Amino acid sequence: MKLEKYSMGIGDRFGHQGAAQLQAFELARAQQVDITPVWNKSNREHTTIGTKPENARQAAESAVRQRKWTGPWLVDADHIGLKTVAGFIAPCDFFTLDVADFIGEAADPDAIAEFVAVFSRYVGTVASPDGKMKLEVTLPFLQEVACRYLKAVQEAGKIYRFIEEAKGRGKFVTEVSMDESLQPQTPAELFFILGALAHEGVPVQTLAPKFSGRFNKGVDYVGDVAQFTREFDADLSVLAMAVAEFGLPASLKLSVHSGSDKFSLYRPIHQLLRKHQAGVHLKTAGTTWLEEVAGLALAGGDALKLAAGIYEKAYGRFDELCAPYATVIEIHKSDLPAPQVVAGWTGQDFAAALRHDPANKLFNPNFRQLLHVGYKVAAECGTVYTQALEAHADRIAPLVTDNLWNKHIQPVFVG
Ligand SMILES: [Zn+2]
Repeated sequence: MKLEKYSMGIGDRFGHQGAAQLQAFELARAQQVDITPVWNKSNREHTTIGTKPENARQAAESAVRQRKWTGPWLVDADHIGLKTVAGFIAPCDFFTLDVADFIGEAADPDAIAEFVAVFSRYVGTVASPDGKMKLEVTLPFLQEVACRYLKAVQEAGKIYRFIEEAKGRGKFVTEVSMDESLQPQTPAELFFILGALAHEGVPVQTLAPKFSGRFNKGVDYVGDVAQFTREFDADLSVLAMAVAEFGLPASLKLSVHSGSDKFSLYRPIHQLLRKHQAGVHLKTAGTTWLEEVAGLALAGGDALKLAAGIYEKAYGRFDELCAPYATVIEIHKSDLPAPQVVAGWTGQDFAAALRHDPANKLFNPNFRQLLHVGYKVAAECGTVYTQALEAHADRIAPLVTDNLWNKHIQPVFVG
């Protein structure tokens, strides 16, 4: 199963916005840009909301049917490991093997020695086919890469073989993720990680490295854009080299996680994809649910009260809700509006504070991030929340489509 050049991970926490999301992909298709929608939901999300992986597949299927979508589409077992993969086997055909926790763990000394022996042929200078990108490789460097990453690669091999055993070879797409780790991977490290994955027999089609800078959920990139641009450029060269050298699938591409709202990176990413004729998987961070809350607020009346009530509860449970996301959010508590203040807002005020429009003075990234991790509160509202989604679907759906199309698909894929 081949992953197409362009694909996008779309999160839909409550499974109500599949069709509205697909409409954004239809708009891209109308401009001759084919993007494969990939419904992603992690085990963490399923546990928080109380859904099962098959629910994500059902939501995707119903959206595909409703919109008569004829292009490819996939369901991603997002950030799974050996302990969590079992329940995702049947409903998923895209697997994100999260091995970040194994980075830095020591592999067996024999395996390290084997790795160094296998890749010692690259000691010296390795150049990309166009000669523009050069990696300087030494034996101590290979040793270091093995010590830091080999265990993680071996873990990816174990998870991959478990899935392959259950689903059959070539029946699913493999992504390997290292983004939820502390230190970014350099292009040279990436080259040998890919080599090691090939050696381990993992037909990786997309890899999510940790880039430098911060990829906080639902807000813009925090970091040096010029440095990111250089890194992304080099990573794209490395991927092309890895395909040629290691026999990895030709569809191999980078996956950008927590990719929602990284507005300052989209232009450089788009230009570099053009330059390298490369594809990308942009995994959004499940901010579709924030469009739901904005739509409810704009609907006014009880729906606005429901939105304000969700915020009030999230505010009161700040530590509990933020803890699982500590490395991917940055909330200044003192800049959060008090719930009593929010209770007096109009729907317009609420939506303006929440929706990510950097030009709008009312936009509050702290408010947005807290609500983003506050989906647990909405989940606890049960049918009160989902019935409100259904009652106000006409107001919510255009926001969902607009967010994906105007803010994400256009700048990244269409340009
Ligand atoms: Zn990730």
